[in-house]
Amino acid sequence: MAVIVKKFGGSSVATPDKIMAVARRVLREKKPDDKIVVVVSAMGDTTDDLISLAKAITDKTYGREMDMLLATGEQVSIALLAMAFVELGHEAVSMTGFQAGFTTNEMFNKAKITGINTDRIWEEFNAGKIVVVAGFQGLTQRGDITTLGRGGSDTTAVAVAAGLKADHCEIYTDVDGIYSSDPRVVPDARRMKEITYNEMLEMARLGAGVMHPRSVELGKHYGMPIHVRSTFTNEPGTFIREEYTMEEKEFVIRGVTHDTNVAKIAVLGVPDQPGIAYKIFSTLAAANIDVDMIVQSVRVMDKHIIDMVFTIAQGDVPQAKKIMEKLNSQMDFSGLKIEENVAKVSVVGAGMLGNPGIAAATFGALADAGINIEVISTSEISISCLIDSSKVKEAVNAIHSRFFPA
Ligand code: ADP
Ligand code: ASP
Ligand code: MG
Repeated sequence: MAVIVKKFGGSSVATPDKIMAVARRVLREKKPDDKIVVVVSAMGDTTDDLISLAKAITDKTYGREMDMLLATGEQVSIALLAMAFVELGHEAVSMTGFQAGFTTNEMFNKAKITGINTDRIWEEFNAGKIVVVAGFQGLTQRGDITTLGRGGSDTTAVAVAAGLKADHCEIYTDVDGIYSSDPRVVPDARRMKEITYNEMLEMARLGAGVMHPRSVELGKHYGMPIHVRSTFTNEPGTFIREEYTMEEKEFVIRGVTHDTNVAKIAVLGVPDQPGIAYKIFSTLAAANIDVDMIVQSVRVMDKHIIDMVFTIAQGDVPQAKKIMEKLNSQMDFSGLKIEENVAKVSVVGAGMLGNPGIAAATFGALADAGINIEVISTSEISISCLIDSSKVKEAVNAIHSRFFPA
């Protein structure tokens, strides 16, 4: 007997025909004793459409009500998929996040899973059913519906796989694996047979939307192998695991990613004295705003002021703007600029540790393409450059062809 979790993304369940095709595929591959959980996302562009509905009513952020709205998308697809299984002759039951045992904290719109109780899923397994679980959602202790952030169904899948101690977790999507760059942006991107949790996590955090970062984190934490593969073919895709087992370890750079969900805040003429950075960043942190790249300028000669530039997600701009304007009235900066026409391009690879020249090669590729770098940041296994968002495609292709020559 194997316990297997299979997750199908929005484009894989976009129409009733596609839902039937998913059900047929799961049944075709299922061995008689297998216990199967199928996690699904909302159909096609449903989540985007729900967000547009809310925007037609208000510009404000409504945490709780927004999650109440967004969670309905997945409820449609689980019900239809469970019906599809039954129509094809196999017992099945649909479950919302809560029915499947997911509890989360109260951070609406980007909630974190705090626990999963799989008793009900086991009950249904023992009754011979395929269990269809709504991705992307959970319930707080108070009983409020939450969602896990865009792309969060991946995290539901890996979490339920870990909770069930499943044999593995399969993520079915509209690409046939993880590529060295988004294949929609880089036609020459290469498909990988395998990638480590650490490198995939860094790629996901730096914008590779194929996997929700938190899902990779959970995979690593629980040692759950994740297989990312195509809904539409039977070929194996990419395995995400702790270590390489094949020849692939020879690559120094694994991927080139981009993220356009970035805004730049420049605070000019800040007093050069202890406690200023603390004041700015602790105030933002208290509002749950993640700050990413940070640069502080060197003080010019005897002027006791400096400039500070940092980046945040675009969704946090309205709140950050209010906070920064309030700080400005207390601290009297000489200027405050917020720009959303920026993007971050990054190279990722554990092999860059102890391999000098990777940063130079990245900057060289951008220089040759005539692209200006506004801010640079690094981690042990990545280098990121902030650039003008209109240059993103060009930048990613230039860097990719430097590290993965044809
Ligand atoms: P799903 O709805 O199945 O969750 P997503 O749209 O969230 O699908 O993720 C799949 C998409 O991720 C692909 O169509 C691809 O354009 C994009 N993507 C971004 N970076 C990568 C990458 N490095 N490898 C593969 N796909 C990527
Ligand atoms: N439906 C949600 C979204 O579009 C969650 C997911 O697809 O993973 O972001
Ligand atoms: Mg996704």
